[in-house]
Amino acid sequence: MGAMANVESFDLDHTKVNAPYVRLAGVKTTPHGDSISKYDLRLLQPNAGAIEPAAIHTLEHLLAGYLRDHLSDIVDVSPMGCRTGMYMAVIGEPDEQGILKAFEAALQDTAAHDRPIPGVSELECGNFRDHDLAAARKHAQDALDGGLKVQKTILLDRS
Ligand SMILES: [Zn+2]
Repeated sequence: MGAMANVESFDLDHTKVNAPYVRLAGVKTTPHGDSISKYDLRLLQPNAGAIEPAAIHTLEHLLAGYLRDHLSDIVDVSPMGCRTGMYMAVIGEPDEQGILKAFEAALQDTAAHDRPIPGVSELECGNFRDHDLAAARKHAQDALDGGLKVQKTILLDRS
């Protein structure tokens, strides 16, 4: 059996980070020379709880729009399987302070969201019954209250 490809997030020491935070997880260069940066947008401290599936699903729907309101050139925003945060891919190499400000503004929009959740219908979503706006708003507010910061990558010491 061949070894699996290396995955950046498995090299992060999840015990040495301090959520909530924004972290540059990696930068890829395409064959044409463009950069695509991946960010770890962490709401909860790893291994100290998880966002309920319905709430992170609603966060996905809201942050998909609100992050794009505050940041151009977003390729993708997706929830982490561990349900402690989101991954975001962006064209170029925007600095972490700019990402921090955009995430903060998007979380403020999310915490204040009091209209229907966008994209919630059988036509638009793969599990449209599984949403929780109140919990999503609370997680957004908790992250803001927790004081967002830029987190450096601390690699696992496998020695
Ligand atoms: Zn959905």
